[in-house]
Amino acid sequence: MHKGIAVSPGVVVGIAYRVESVFGTSDPQTLADPKLIPTEIERFNNAVSTSAHELEAIVTKVAQQLGNAEADIFKSHLQIVNDHGLLDRVRALIEKQQLTALSALQIVLQGYAASFARIEHDYYRERLADVRDVISRIGSHLTAPPLSQPSANSENGEEPVILVAHEIMPSQAMSLGNIPIAGIVTETGGGTSHAAILSRSRGIPAVSGVVGITNDVHSGDLMVVDGRDGVVIVRPDREATAAYRKMQREFFDLKDKLVLNRDQPAMSADGAQIELLANINNVADAQAAEKVGATGVGLFRTEYLFLSHADVPDEEEQYQHYRQIIEDSPNRAVTIRTLDLGGDKTVPYLGRRSEANPFMGWRSIRLSFEHPRLFERQIRAILRAGRHGKVNMLFPMITTLEELRVVNRIVEETRRNLRREGVPFGEDVKTGVMVEVPAAAVCVDAILRETDFISIGSNDLIQYLVAADRDNPKVAHLCEPLSPAIFKVLQMVLDACQRTGTPVTLCGEMAGQPRSVLVLFGMGLRRFSMSPAFVPTIKALLASVTTAQAERFAHQVLQLKTNEEIRSYLNARLHEVSSALEVFDSA
Ligand code: PEP
Ligand code: MG
Repeated sequence: MHKGIAVSPGVVVGIAYRVESVFGTSDPQTLADPKLIPTEIERFNNAVSTSAHELEAIVTKVAQQLGNAEADIFKSHLQIVNDHGLLDRVRALIEKQQLTALSALQIVLQGYAASFARIEHDYYRERLADVRDVISRIGSHLTAPPLSQPSANSENGEEPVILVAHEIMPSQAMSLGNIPIAGIVTETGGGTSHAAILSRSRGIPAVSGVVGITNDVHSGDLMVVDGRDGVVIVRPDREATAAYRKMQREFFDLKDKLVLNRDQPAMSADGAQIELLANINNVADAQAAEKVGATGVGLFRTEYLFLSHADVPDEEEQYQHYRQIIEDSPNRAVTIRTLDLGGDKTVPYLGRRSEANPFMGWRSIRLSFEHPRLFERQIRAILRAGRHGKVNMLFPMITTLEELRVVNRIVEETRRNLRREGVPFGEDVKTGVMVEVPAAAVCVDAILRETDFISIGSNDLIQYLVAADRDNPKVAHLCEPLSPAIFKVLQMVLDACQRTGTPVTLCGEMAGQPRSVLVLFGMGLRRFSMSPAFVPTIKALLASVTTAQAERFAHQVLQLKTNEEIRSYLNARLHEVSSALEVFDSA
């Protein structure tokens, strides 16, 4: 049995599929049969030439869209992918040591890392990042789709698949989109890491921070993932298997039952109106939002378009994509957030800098400011798409009032340009600020005077308030919403919005977590945006609590001094209000 961080609720029993990657920690794998060597060399050669073709196309597109300096990064990647020294080393390892191409790539990468580590110079560190990128690109063309894997212990051959990986990068997670995965277990990552958010958005039970799991599990093993308690059991005995299968059935039965509330309005037991919106990353999520009864999209994270795109999407491609999202979203109401890249989400064409603290560094709006052409093009695409629905434009990671003023000026200029060019766009697109940096929360009064609405990004607000990286399982115990400091700051921001009558949504993960929702509702929040999978649960929860009750809970929570006191107080309240829904909150 392993213990990790519960990141997405639910229970599942299934067959493990270990995601091998060039960055994985597993031992090198040899080919089962020496006769397979020529096939493996051919697979490798094909992966190299596919990668080279991709890179050639990217160089052309990036040069057109962003400029020659940005395209240079990919020119250097092209050189690496054509580097005979590197390629021959991989082929030699396949031939002489009968290694799989993926293992050979892994060893070559380790060799580069070791020799570059001896050289104390930024240039070589950046260079290593480029080699890593290229090797990972080649590797991505080598990995077989998970479902071709035999399910050794499966009783009927149709067990659900549980993905086990060292780490799932946001870009990788996108490519897993169409595979029917029933559970995810990773060694790294915290409760609001982007991989965790993606599991939640698909309603898949997940546990992260499970140290050593990739060494303990083999593809084909039966395993249990309990996304409520953060428990993972590899090769469970009969009794445990039967017990968890029963929990799995109960969990999914309850989910199926809850979704029947999709056409009911969201309101508390005493009839207070509430808006339940969805956080989405792509068109499939927009459709999911419609199915579960969300009344709009409170957060569309546009960076996933950029992460899943081989090169930089131009204005027209963005416009078409946003339009499609709007058309598929409930009530065509969508809040579109401008690019929030950086931190753990990087695309190589925007330049790479090694930073000691990427989450505190060059990310999000800071990166958009440095690429004004790209930023303006995105704003144009959003404004144009704004004609097709009720659209808001949201700016991430605003830290100072000066930044907000720059943003407002750019939006105004862009509107003027569109008007002058005679390009139709949505005249009534509202603009808003993500409050997710403590500096913005503290000075929220000033921000409210110069923006139409705000959206509280509690995932980032929490990590910056408690100075604990949201991706690092070692500090996950600090990075959690049920804490006195977080609720005090949230109350302050909500009070400021109430005083000024500014519309406010909370779109961090806590908007979909029952215990937090009881407090937020009591503090006066009426717009919650969450992964679509949680909408039915939160609707059911709010229907079983009155405004006065929730206000009492919030008042009491603000008197408590420790995380533990808050947690146990809210455990008891949730149990009282709706014990059936406890399974949807992490322990
Ligand atoms: C947040 O920070 O709470 C948020 C919703 O944005 P993201 O998780 O994309 O950083
Ligand atoms: Mg954020």
